[in-house]
Amino acid sequence: MDMTQLPTVAKKIYHPCKKCGCERYQVVTSHTGPTTARLECEVCKSKSLFKLEEPKRTRTAVPKKPATKSKAAAHVARFTELRDKNGDKPRPYNMKSEFEVGTVLEHPKFGLGFVILANLQAIQVVFEDEERSLVHNRA
Ligand SMILES: [Zn+2]
Repeated sequence: MDMTQLPTVAKKIYHPCKKCGCERYQVVTSHTGPTTARLECEVCKSKSLFKLEEPKRTRTAVPKKPATKSKAAAHVARFTELRDKNGDKPRPYNMKSEFEVGTVLEHPKFGLGFVILANLQAIQVVFEDEERSLVHNRA
């Protein structure tokens, strides 16, 4: 039997009866849950529980990649894209200087970086290994 929904109450279904030891017409007397119903054998009147089989879930074709790995890959792709777009000569990073969005900078420790956000005190910079928040404009 291939059912995806519970048979309605008072409906008869052909179902194995334990007491009779064979398949019998059984009446659905009530629903006890979203996938369970009570049955009553037409022949021996014994009551049993009917459980709907869970529909088999189709597995998604896309295998899950480790989040950290894909995140790192996304970062590298972002950095590469920024580097390809910004051919400017990098400005040496100095917390006293002011940097604007789009500026290419050279940090003594982190190396080449691209300013993607800037406010009065801080800049958000994409470096090759990760994105960092740096201070600037510290006159
Ligand atoms: Zn029976």
